[in-house]
Amino acid sequence: MTEHVEHSTTSVVTSSQWQNISWVLLDMDGTLLDLCFDDHFWQSALPQVYAEYHQVSMAEADAFINRIANEKYGSLDWYCIDFWSQQVGFDIRPTKQTLTHLIGFRKGALAFLKWLKHQGKHVVLATNAHPDSIALKDAQTDLSAWVDHILHAHDANAPKESANYWQWLHKKTQFIGEQTLFIDDNDHILDAAHNAGIGYCIGVNTPNSAAEPKTSRYPAFDHFQELYPPSI
Ligand SMILES: [Mg+2]
Repeated sequence: MTEHVEHSTTSVVTSSQWQNISWVLLDMDGTLLDLCFDDHFWQSALPQVYAEYHQVSMAEADAFINRIANEKYGSLDWYCIDFWSQQVGFDIRPTKQTLTHLIGFRKGALAFLKWLKHQGKHVVLATNAHPDSIALKDAQTDLSAWVDHILHAHDANAPKESANYWQWLHKKTQFIGEQTLFIDDNDHILDAAHNAGIGYCIGVNTPNSAAEPKTSRYPAFDHFQELYPPSI
């Protein structure tokens, strides 16, 4: 209880703002779920499997993956399991499967989802993740039980970094921008959401619980309790 009251004094979204918010759009990786799974996969597990598969050094494997990641950053390919499997020369799904123990909610995320449901908000999972990644994470967390819709970039054929994604999402949900809150750990994506008229854009300070906190140009938080006062 003490912890809850302490957090409520620095609420990132105020009670009166919450009363105005009807739609809540939530990113998955690094926002609802701990990014330690994804960081570990891309920075450690995948280069290791690539090095073994192609019989090259770890440095060469890192360089290959980083080069493609830099070229494709912010595009749909960057998030696409099929694209990456094609690039590295093997299916990357089994490697992801070996790391499922790292998949989990960020601090307070599940309680926040339950609170949103109780409040009757329209809750949308708005993610760039490939449908197979969503399925893998849902199998571990049952995340889909707490959202009304999963509207992912592969269905939109456009990443959240692009205006096309937001036009597509608007057609699907008919959200009213001024009454919509969006949370994402990527500032470029928050910029696109802001440009699309989303009224409340919130960043994340600690997407990966095992890494140093980062800074956002947007109002941001660590624990989900910082987002909602207990009095509502
Ligand atoms: Mg994210």
